[in-house]
Amino acid sequence: MSAPETPAPSNFIKEIIKEDLKTGKNNNRVHTRFPPEPNGYLHIGHAKSICLNFGLAKEFGGMCNLRLDDTNPTKEEVEYVESIREDVRWIGFDWGDREYYASDYFEQMYQYAVQLIKKGRAFVCDLNADEMRAYRGTLTEPGKESPFRSRSVEENLDLFERMRKGEFPDGSRTLRAKIDMSSGNINMRDPVMYRILHAEHHRTGGKWCIYPMYDYAHCVSDSIEGITHSICTLEFEDHRPLYDWFLDELNVYHPQQIEFARLNLNYTVMSKRKFLQLVNEGHVKGWDDPRMPTMSGLRRRGYTPGAIRNFAERIGVAKRDSVVDFALLEYCIREDLNRTAPRVMAVLKPLKVVITNYPEDKTEELDAVNNPEDPGMGTRRVPFSRVLYIEKDDFREAPPKGFFRLALGREVRLRYAYYIICVNVIKDEKTGELIELHCTYDPATRGGDSPDGRKVKATIHWVSAAHAIEAEVRLYDYLLLKADPDDVEEGKDFKSNLNPNSLEVLTDCKLEPSLSGAKTGSRCQFERLGYFCVDPDSSKDKLVFNRTVTLKDTWAKAQKKGK
Ligand code: ATP
Ligand code: MG
Repeated sequence: MSAPETPAPSNFIKEIIKEDLKTGKNNNRVHTRFPPEPNGYLHIGHAKSICLNFGLAKEFGGMCNLRLDDTNPTKEEVEYVESIREDVRWIGFDWGDREYYASDYFEQMYQYAVQLIKKGRAFVCDLNADEMRAYRGTLTEPGKESPFRSRSVEENLDLFERMRKGEFPDGSRTLRAKIDMSSGNINMRDPVMYRILHAEHHRTGGKWCIYPMYDYAHCVSDSIEGITHSICTLEFEDHRPLYDWFLDELNVYHPQQIEFARLNLNYTVMSKRKFLQLVNEGHVKGWDDPRMPTMSGLRRRGYTPGAIRNFAERIGVAKRDSVVDFALLEYCIREDLNRTAPRVMAVLKPLKVVITNYPEDKTEELDAVNNPEDPGMGTRRVPFSRVLYIEKDDFREAPPKGFFRLALGREVRLRYAYYIICVNVIKDEKTGELIELHCTYDPATRGGDSPDGRKVKATIHWVSAAHAIEAEVRLYDYLLLKADPDDVEEGKDFKSNLNPNSLEVLTDCKLEPSLSGAKTGSRCQFERLGYFCVDPDSSKDKLVFNRTVTLKDTWAKAQKKGK
């Protein structure tokens, strides 16, 4: 079950589409696409783009294609294609039979390039990469025309065909658009359309040894698919004139490119390239490490698709870059799980408690509420017996001011059970280490209420030792120490900002028996501790849980303070 979603507010892209529908542009079609490059796993930034593109298609009765933008064979892999499919489906969107690949259009792209050569709008250039850079000029200086710019159409056609046939080594020649070396927009200074790359492609194999560049491939792919609104992130704003130039010169169907601000989150990086480094260098355990804001990481961590869609809706779509507080993402998952996750009791750092006046051989079954937010989720029975575990942190030998939980001589409530008083503290004689507490219980307080109206200041959770299930629990913190990933010393990169304590593993946790056999991926709230989810590392003998998020709502707090 996922959270009900908030009604979708408007944004500038929706306004553009509404206007287009009003004027009858595109014959009232709305057709978008989500165009990832299969060179890594998708992250929460992509989720924003997925929700936007598929969401617009849904809202306006249109369609959205999944297009794998596979024009760079050296970085792309089938593994990534498969993960992308899985992630888009998981978020809750369906591309029907419209799964396309830029590589499906290689032949058409080639033919279009030939047309541009014939029109005198493209030429084969023999400058190498360094020379090309030198000729390009800078933001303040115009570029210089390539000495190969005036080659005849015939020569260009011949060389381009021979490039395709594999006659030339990598990097020796390129096909370039002939636009304007003095343009104020560097993207328009005779940009490269094709490069030579003798590399196996994961779909076309050895068929091609020239590959189109992004700017050329993207607009042509959009045009072939009949995309109406080609939505991309802001860094492509300066590429839009080139997008338009190619399609105008080819005189083909011409989608409209619209740019929006990419999602940035604090306390993490947001780039496949950087995630790849974290994975390859062993800073995390894999693309689906629960600390990673990849979709597979978030899924493993316990995030729900509904929470992610809600998050995407909440952050909105703007034209200006900003950084979103990670706490807002956490707020969204907390909000979802608060409604849907059953409550259970679990002790993460156990301290043994012996109830000295409770019979040794007795076990009681006490009623516990599964979710106070949803009475429909019912109740369950939790066993209680003479030896229990409580959280180490819930006891203090010398309680500071404001600490109301258990201490010597003090009475507290055990959730759903009884009032207990701590009467003795047992320590290891040699080390002084705390071993166990001796407490007495008041049988009249069964269920957690005192008939004489006696109040206690704290309620703590517990697990019966004889009935406890053993578990490992993994607690996660932000990947980065500093909110701003670029806040590093000169000459260092984001990895110098990695949080060395982003993972804490607790191996001696005790769970109430209702969790026995919990399935991988199932979610619950450990009372007072947070929301948790069963990790695929779990085995028959030992459950492993990930903490999805704590109960502490730093987002709402910050909002109240007007931060
Ligand atoms: P990365 O820098 O992480 O590799 P990318 O932009 O190179 O990302 P693509 O596979 O090219 O990744 O992206 C697919 C789509 O997702 C593009 O339309 C892109 O604009 C969008 N996208 C990527 N990152 C973000 C982000 N942080 N916020 C919103 N949309 C994004
Ligand atoms: Mg990219």
